[in-house]
Amino acid sequence: MSATGSGVKEMAEMLRSGAKMLSYNCPECGSPLFQLKSGEIWCAKCQRRVVIVAEGEDESAPARELLWEELERTLVEKLSAVNRLLSAAGEPERVRELAEVVSVLLSSLERLRRARKT
Ligand SMILES: [Zn+2]
Repeated sequence: MSATGSGVKEMAEMLRSGAKMLSYNCPECGSPLFQLKSGEIWCAKCQRRVVIVAEGEDESAPARELLWEELERTLVEKLSAVNRLLSAAGEPERVRELAEVVSVLLSSLERLRRARKT
């Protein structure tokens, strides 16, 4: 057991490993949270993973915002992947299939952006 742990050393290590410092703080200790390359949210001071859950409390608002951001990023990534497939597609059937996927992704994105504002 260690009574030390300002978390500064751990934070420096996280940054060195390529983790990104977020503008959100740990709900337990108030330290800045990090996003690992794997996408996990981590508190360097508590040395534990912070699970992002949406609750009906104000405290969870930053967490929810984080989830939206991740979702949006994922959708945009998928769109760009499908776009690549679409531009390579030759058969009309395949094009139609992919165009449908684009349409679904776009409306998801639109719904997500609407949900964020409320
Ligand atoms: Zn913490």
